[in-house]
Amino acid sequence: MNLRTACIRLALEGLYFTGTWKVLGPLSSGIGTIFTMHHVRPARNDVFQPNALLEVEPDFLETLIEYLRYRKVDIVSLDEAKRKLREQDYEKRFVCLALDDGYRDNLEFAYPIFRKHGVPAALFIASSFPEKTGLLWWTALERAIAATERVEIEIGGKLRKFDCGSAGAKQKTYENIYWQLRGLADERDLRRIVTELCARYGVDPLGPCKDLCMDWSEIKTLASDPLITIGAHSVNHYMLKKWDAETVKQELTQSAAAIETALGRKPVDFAYPVGDKTSADAREFALAKDAGYELALTTRPGVIFPEHREHMTALPRVSLNGHFQKIRYADVLRSGVPFALPHCFRRLDVA
Ligand SMILES: [Zn+2]
Repeated sequence: MNLRTACIRLALEGLYFTGTWKVLGPLSSGIGTIFTMHHVRPARNDVFQPNALLEVEPDFLETLIEYLRYRKVDIVSLDEAKRKLREQDYEKRFVCLALDDGYRDNLEFAYPIFRKHGVPAALFIASSFPEKTGLLWWTALERAIAATERVEIEIGGKLRKFDCGSAGAKQKTYENIYWQLRGLADERDLRRIVTELCARYGVDPLGPCKDLCMDWSEIKTLASDPLITIGAHSVNHYMLKKWDAETVKQELTQSAAAIETALGRKPVDFAYPVGDKTSADAREFALAKDAGYELALTTRPGVIFPEHREHMTALPRVSLNGHFQKIRYADVLRSGVPFALPHCFRRLDVA
């Protein structure tokens, strides 16, 4: 666990055990929460797991669902959340479950839990992933670093050398390279560097997509269940803010078209890839609306307030992070207090 994760965990524990989340919750909890997940699968033993934050265990997901039901929280579809906002029906607090990227473990481990409990969920598919042509660069980078003892990499014209001799060193190297790549203005550079790195260390850059993502027939199985909503997550999983408007428009419309072709139904919901402020901002919110989406989800952290009905393509989410798999953390996050305190109880973060 890195220092940042440890600090966040300490803050969540503090808010919980001091009861601050309960005292301030009525001011900050809004009307509902949209939780984000990626992988849902049993814990793995590998020591080097830099993307562990992107996976939760099936047991945690099931316990959370049972707990939310026990607390009389409405677990609703995105359509029902939209209706609640539109009709200003705020009587019962709600939770939506959204899973990004379209991993096969969603079908294998999460879906049986949704079925067992009759719980709706939304899956956001980057349309190149079921085609097996998508670059899951964050996992490809993980595999390249796992495969070597030393990394040489040129970022921004500078040649850098990193030690990858131990799991700890690999973790540090991953974080260093990951954040340098995320800082590049042009995402094409990021993708080129990761692809070259993979080639140098004998790793298939498309391997993660081929191994981990569902194909269309698997997605079709899920889509045929009324509990499951399929949304779009772009074509290539680009950080849209880094691309020109024409590319963004194509990513928004072509992903919807590909899903419609494969599943016979056009998605009306979108989740911005990566989804933070460096990836989705006011221009993308407007373009998603222009493209006809009824709702679009960022990963800006926060809960839903009535005011969001005017900003349906800029909705915040709360990540169910693999490092924070405890019901009490989910309680504190749903209270909205961790997001309200640093921003003086601001309700909207949409520009
Ligand atoms: Zn994603």
